[in-house]
Amino acid sequence: MVKEMVAVMGSKTEEFKEEKEIFLEHIQKSGLRRTAQRDLILEVFLRTEDHLSSEDLYWLVQKEDPNVGQTTVYRTLKLLTEAGLAREVRLGDGRTYYEHHFDHEHHDHMICTECGEVIEFFSAEIEELQDQMAEKFNFKPTHHSLRILGICGECQKLEREQSVASGAQPRVRVKTTLN
Ligand SMILES: [Zn+2]
Ligand SMILES: [Zn+2]
Ligand SMILES: [Zn+2]
Repeated sequence: MVKEMVAVMGSKTEEFKEEKEIFLEHIQKSGLRRTAQRDLILEVFLRTEDHLSSEDLYWLVQKEDPNVGQTTVYRTLKLLTEAGLAREVRLGDGRTYYEHHFDHEHHDHMICTECGEVIEFFSAEIEELQDQMAEKFNFKPTHHSLRILGICGECQKLEREQSVASGAQPRVRVKTTLN
């Protein structure tokens, strides 16, 4: 979604080495076994720099292995979250999305309510103000997620074009009634 945040790809074997190690460690700690399906789900998740629902990820995984079930994808996403590789994001449509967490800077989101475009942003000033505000209320923040809902640039442009197009009509109609 945000073009600047495309992951830098390493060589095929080295790709996501650290993430894979973290995942394996977490799986073993949880008393689970490493499976080809879990590996594939992790791989597809890491390759996709986007905000994905469990269902989105399921469809992407399906393309590579139709035998992977939706429940397996859901459970693996939970494991990824526990391991600190993924984090849950709410974008305001009631669904839960997941994004990369490991090695990713904290950021907040602007969401277009027209087309669903998600813009990731970070402002040190806003972060600082939030901390100050928490301090003022003797509140100890553990985490936060700032969400700005609105209309993206593209959709604003479309709206303007549409209002110009439909705006021409009443003017004509006024003229005809006057005549
Ligand atoms: Zn923030
Ligand atoms: Zn939009
Ligand atoms: Zn994000």
